[in-house]
Amino acid sequence: MKAVQTRFVCSACGRVETKWLGRCPSCGAWNTFEEEKVTAAPASSKSAPAPVLDNRLKKLSEVEVSSSVRFASGMDELDRVLGGGIMRPSAVLVGGEPGIGKSTIMLQVISSCTQAGPVLYVSGEESPSQVRLRAERLKLKLEDINIFCDTRLEVLMDVIEELKPAIVVIDSLQTLSSSSVPSVPGSVNQMRTCCMALSLLAKSRNIAMFFIGHVTKDGALAGPKIVEHLVDTVLYFESAQTGVRILRSVKNRFGSVDEIGIFRMDHMGLSAVKDPSLFFISDREEGALPSGVAYTAVTEGSRTFLVEIQALTVPCKGGMPRVYSDKIDAARVNRVAAILERHASLVLSDCDTYINVAGGIKLNEVSIELALALALWSARTNTPLYGRQVCFGELSLAGEVRPVAFLERRIKASQEMGFDKVLAPAVRSQKDGSVSYCRNIKQAIMISRALRTEVSASGS
Ligand SMILES: [Zn+2]
Repeated sequence: MKAVQTRFVCSACGRVETKWLGRCPSCGAWNTFEEEKVTAAPASSKSAPAPVLDNRLKKLSEVEVSSSVRFASGMDELDRVLGGGIMRPSAVLVGGEPGIGKSTIMLQVISSCTQAGPVLYVSGEESPSQVRLRAERLKLKLEDINIFCDTRLEVLMDVIEELKPAIVVIDSLQTLSSSSVPSVPGSVNQMRTCCMALSLLAKSRNIAMFFIGHVTKDGALAGPKIVEHLVDTVLYFESAQTGVRILRSVKNRFGSVDEIGIFRMDHMGLSAVKDPSLFFISDREEGALPSGVAYTAVTEGSRTFLVEIQALTVPCKGGMPRVYSDKIDAARVNRVAAILERHASLVLSDCDTYINVAGGIKLNEVSIELALALALWSARTNTPLYGRQVCFGELSLAGEVRPVAFLERRIKASQEMGFDKVLAPAVRSQKDGSVSYCRNIKQAIMISRALRTEVSASGS
């Protein structure tokens, strides 16, 4: 038999190294490497929990189509992110920072799914009475929810076998431990073993299994990232503006990962924000747009809504210009600034740049680049843009404005929201009075500036 080997795993991102490192080269976290013993046989094989799956060799035509079914969770926003409802069987990871509302939403979900069968809430963090108080506060039907407070994997699996639930919520994965693994709860090894065993159990017993996983910044607990590959669907909760939560799917075996769910959080728990179209725009007086603000239309799955990008430039301190931007990737801001500097003769390399998105939603789409450029231009030149202009387009390094997906949808959404000027990438065979088409960033700035002068001239 092979000797026991040691390896080191980053508890934040799962990177494996042969030596201990102070800082993870992948995710940049400090002191996150954890020692892991690797025996010749994989750790999971010696532990009893893994239920047997049908692994006989057969023809593809003989494979029985699994009777997986979807059912509504009772929360439209969650169903949308899941790709049309909860899949059964499935294993879903729900990650997010502590206190963001993961336990609350999962308690609400199982309470509204009781028609699918027995539901089980496993709490390793809170006592049964704490969970009861929370459920009472949310006005849930207490008699429909089974609660089990234990953190031992083997005991939990027996309980699940006996109850035969339709939905199980594990709150949280980091508290579970298997007796077959020597390390402490919350370590990389424990999390993997428990997640794997319960996912397999979910498959073989037709359960929708939800794992709550805490994302901690200090790296004291292993992050949910290291079990992402073991589950079907991965959802993350983000905190946007006060009381607003965004649920984003980063992996979904049963649907697309473009959809986001937007929730408002109050004492009654999380409720859906039905119409987010103007949700991410500050309330302003008509036409009173300050410098450094530009509107753009973004698409998230089946929805299109308007977002406000804010920019601020100040003379840089200490000779090293910096970009402060956490809602838009700082590398993208730097690239757009470089394009402006080269192709629109706008000097930004002597400024510190701050970028924000109203409402706190993270933007990853390339289509926001034109609005970002115009916000930067507006901030640097102290020229407010026209208050009812929406712009979108991708910027190439050569300063061209490139077409983006869903052009029609974005134009339509902007007009529906009462924005009467749209600045869009030039495409052939387009004619619309309220839409201006631009080919490059210089032209975009010219059009915006002309529009501004025109409007203020006719307004006075
Ligand atoms: Zn790492």
